[in-house]
Amino acid sequence: MVPRFHRLSSAIAEGIRLMSDSERVVPDSGFRMAAVCGKSLSAACLGQFDGNTERLLRDGVDLVGSLRVLYPALATPVVHGCSRWRPSEGQTLEDNIVHLEDCHGFSRDQIVAWLRERGY
Ligand SMILES: [Zn+2]
Repeated sequence: MVPRFHRLSSAIAEGIRLMSDSERVVPDSGFRMAAVCGKSLSAACLGQFDGNTERLLRDGVDLVGSLRVLYPALATPVVHGCSRWRPSEGQTLEDNIVHLEDCHGFSRDQIVAWLRERGY
């Protein structure tokens, strides 16, 4: 298995492109993975696996685990350091993405922009 994209942000952007209009408008609809790993990483899986996520999930493939192997940047320590999250907690890029969605209400597009600003 090889990464389809050089950068994680590109995988998410491709996932967003592949979503149907209803999936894009109604957050997380029809995409059960989003409950597990957040909407941006589920979009990254959609982009990486070229829209085949439902089939691969049925086959028992650990998509998020595969994503972590293919995009090791997810494990990079990134200090976010807002008042709700102290820098001492060993945050990874993946933790930051989930935190920005949950605590700051970032959309998938905002996550893509945030990643691109940082070169991911
Ligand atoms: Zn924060």
